[in-house]
Amino acid sequence: MYVLDTCAFLSQKHPDGKLITIPQIKLELKNKQSLQYFSNLNEIGLEIREPSNENLKIVKLNAKKTGDLAVLSDTDLKILAIAHETKSTIVSDDFAIQNVALYMKLKYISCSGKEIKELRKWKYKCSACNFVSMKKYPECTTCGSKDIFRIKAK
Ligand SMILES: [Zn+2]
Repeated sequence: MYVLDTCAFLSQKHPDGKLITIPQIKLELKNKQSLQYFSNLNEIGLEIREPSNENLKIVKLNAKKTGDLAVLSDTDLKILAIAHETKSTIVSDDFAIQNVALYMKLKYISCSGKEIKELRKWKYKCSACNFVSMKKYPECTTCGSKDIFRIKAK
C-alpha cells in the first residue's frame, strides 16, 4: 500500500498497488494533467481521506524531535499521519517528510530517485548571538533577533 504525496501526481511515477492520499493534495495540483491523473486514479480506486487526530498528534511529536516540524506544512504532516495509520509506504520527494518517516520507521520512496539515507536532526541557530535551540521560535529567545537558521545537529 502506498501513500501518494504531490510528486506522484506531478510525475505520474509511483508503484502500482493499493493507493491512498489526503484531500488537501488535490489543492496543490495546479496543472491540468496532474488533476486529470488524480481523477483517473480516483476512478480506479485511489482512496482519499483524512488521518485521525490522534495519528496527527503522534506525527507532530516525532517531527518536533527531529527538528522538522517548523518546515512541514499541514499537508505534509497529514501525509505522514495517514502512512502511520495505514502502515503504508510514503511516495514523496520532500526530504523533511522522508526524514520524519525514517525516524518513525515508516518506509518511503521518492518520485525523483532522490532519497535521504540517514536521519538528519536539526537545530535552530540565531545568527546574531549564536543561541541554539531545538525548537524554532519566530525570534531569538535570548536576543530577539529574527535571523534564525536551521543547522544540522549531531
Ligand atoms: Zn539571538
